[in-house]
Amino acid sequence: MPENEWVRIIPLGGLGEIGMNMFVIETANDIVVIDAGLMFPEEEMLGIDLVIPDFSHLLQHREKVRGLILTHGHEDHTGSLPFLLKELPIPVYGTPLSLCLAAEKIREQNLDADLRQIAPRDRFALGGLQVECMRVCHSIPDGVGVALETPAGLVVHAGDFKFDPTPVDGELTDYHKFAELGDRGVLVLLSDSTNALRPGFTPSERTVGRALEEIFRTARRRIIVACFASHIHRIQQVLEVAAMLGRKVAIHGKSMVANTRIAGDLGYLRVPPGVLVRLDELRHLSPAETVIIATGSQGEPLSAIARMAAGEHKQIEITPGDTVIFSARVIPGNEMSIARTINHLLRRGAEVITEEHAPVHVSGHPCQEELKLMLNLTRPKFFVPIHGEYRHRHHHAKLAAAVGIDSEHICLAENGDILEFTPDTGGIVGKVAVGRIFVDGKGVGDVGDAVLRERQHLARDGMVVVVVGLDPRTRAVVAGPEIISRGFVDLQDQEALFDAAKRLVIEVLAGCLEEERGDAAVLKENIRVALRKFIQKNFDRRPMVLPVVIEV
Ligand SMILES: [Zn+2]
Ligand SMILES: [Zn+2]
Repeated sequence: MPENEWVRIIPLGGLGEIGMNMFVIETANDIVVIDAGLMFPEEEMLGIDLVIPDFSHLLQHREKVRGLILTHGHEDHTGSLPFLLKELPIPVYGTPLSLCLAAEKIREQNLDADLRQIAPRDRFALGGLQVECMRVCHSIPDGVGVALETPAGLVVHAGDFKFDPTPVDGELTDYHKFAELGDRGVLVLLSDSTNALRPGFTPSERTVGRALEEIFRTARRRIIVACFASHIHRIQQVLEVAAMLGRKVAIHGKSMVANTRIAGDLGYLRVPPGVLVRLDELRHLSPAETVIIATGSQGEPLSAIARMAAGEHKQIEITPGDTVIFSARVIPGNEMSIARTINHLLRRGAEVITEEHAPVHVSGHPCQEELKLMLNLTRPKFFVPIHGEYRHRHHHAKLAAAVGIDSEHICLAENGDILEFTPDTGGIVGKVAVGRIFVDGKGVGDVGDAVLRERQHLARDGMVVVVVGLDPRTRAVVAGPEIISRGFVDLQDQEALFDAAKRLVIEVLAGCLEEERGDAAVLKENIRVALRKFIQKNFDRRPMVLPVVIEV
């Protein structure tokens, strides 16, 4: 094999979770990055705002990094970009909508970025790599897949895609280009596993438009549609149906307003003339003439819908006969907050329609038959299922084997695995440091697993602080002990036990050996051990015990 005929593909995120998608494509001379996503914190990540990938591999090889390509504007592909650019200011390539949405986030962080606009089927060079992007349909407009010509062969990242035969904007997934790549010979295909467990085809986005029309026709009063702010095609269809039936539409929610403005400016959202009104104009209209498109499809507590449901919205009051449509999928983990919102809405007399009642949502990802189609069009020598938990990727691997991909050539990788391919061989050859970096307020990475464990401990069991003052010379107790607790038990109810605990602290100090008395650390540890045992015995609980020993 000639020396440089290899390519390495390193997932920095996106293989252990849905979210945080980020791939490194590395050759002897160049590195190209595809996407830089974030993940929203899981329930046990207390106080964490965002989770981003560990960029250290890129920072170690910064001189080789030629640029980053965005496949589309979703946050699981763009959300960690500002954090990356802060440490590694590289050019960012993307289609107009993806770049504009990313630019908003970059501006929020007061950063400048070198943003370079591309169009599907453009060819451009990043270092020694030839890059080509191809249009894909998805739940946000302007998505692309990426093909890279490397010394080992053609690497194709299919992006987040579906094969919608009747897309709302008429922009089909580029079957021809994927087929042409297949004819040229694809070395490796990376493809979206989100819906690998679902049989058949994902229905066209247009089916949602028809379902909405039916509901709109029978709705008696106001209609409120909750959907994702980035789902421009969904918003487009609501606007069209409303215009057709003579209803006015108000857009509500910060991200909803921002995204519709950006998409409108760029021409991705075509607003029928005269249909939009401001939220405060609604009161001049009869409810039967109005529609509100709002954020809050996941029941987020501060969202427009949640506030309306709770009766805490300043301008909008839900009244009997209103129709509320949840036009989005339930993201796992959000079931409770959505259910709470729906309960409130129903109590106020609204009719609530979700995916369970009518086809008011379709996925933006490919189901099994579409996954097979992508594999058959590109006919890759090697296949790496991406974008999904292990169970999704595992099943995607089975589909690939079913369409005839050599099962030895299917790589179920994990984040950080170094996948190395030559024209004939492929597999995992090593590992780079990866992980989840927690963002909390202004801190990036300063909350680690240890801090998180403390937060979980505090949240679960509360804490008990015991303060005792000692004479610096004699080491006799001259103040306290005082016991303060938070999240443990109401002190007043348990006075006798707390008094006993205080006596115990004094006993522990009196019982300390002569040589231990001068060492505050030893005293604290002795108090901690004794108090923990005492609390365990009397309460059967394990709060965090924090002794404070001071000299007074
Ligand atoms: Zn996406
Ligand atoms: Zn995605």
